[in-house]
Amino acid sequence: MTGVTRLFVAVWPPTEVVEQLMSLPRKDLRGVRFVPPDNWHLTLRFLGEASIGDAIAALDDLALPEAHVELGPAVDVRFRRMIVVPASGLDALAAVVGRHTGGIGTHDPERFVGHLTLARLGKRASLPDVVGARFDAAFDVGEIALVRSRLERDGARYETIETWSVDGPTSRDR
Ligand code: ATP
Ligand code: MG
Repeated sequence: MTGVTRLFVAVWPPTEVVEQLMSLPRKDLRGVRFVPPDNWHLTLRFLGEASIGDAIAALDDLALPEAHVELGPAVDVRFRRMIVVPASGLDALAAVVGRHTGGIGTHDPERFVGHLTLARLGKRASLPDVVGARFDAAFDVGEIALVRSRLERDGARYETIETWSVDGPTSRDR
């Protein structure tokens, strides 16, 4: 596969965590675009326009470190335009992915700040109630995913192209 397309590398949260996140308020407000639950993810590395084949080759056969993610302690605002749940525990995994995909795509690896985006704010949007809500969830990362993003008028469509397991205890015991 050599197709060039918009790609990023991410971790999909497990169903239990998605369900926990769904209990946060998502009231419709002018200028606030909530990310639909199916799209909730934790980006490890945004590649921009990149060759699928190059991205897969870069991510194949890596020793991916185990990661224990903690989400919280509260919903926050980033850059005045994103409503996020902060995430810790992904730095080592993101560093490995960043190091091995450094030359790929239109975007260089940036300083990693773990987060899950719940909503994006338009210019004159007021802050939704969810900001400041306490949140506490944790999970072990099973795999990372190479995801294609298609930007549609009503929001992004994501499609997982390939996944790679992290070196968790189960695979090591085998
Ligand atoms: P939209 O752009 O329509 O709001 P989106 O941001 O979810 O949708 P993409 O722009 O394709 O879709 O981004 C996919 C992922 O990569 C998201 O987690 C996004 O925050 C991240 N991302 C996008 N652009 C950049 C960038 N320039 N630098 C770092 N991360 C980025
Ligand atoms: Mg975007």
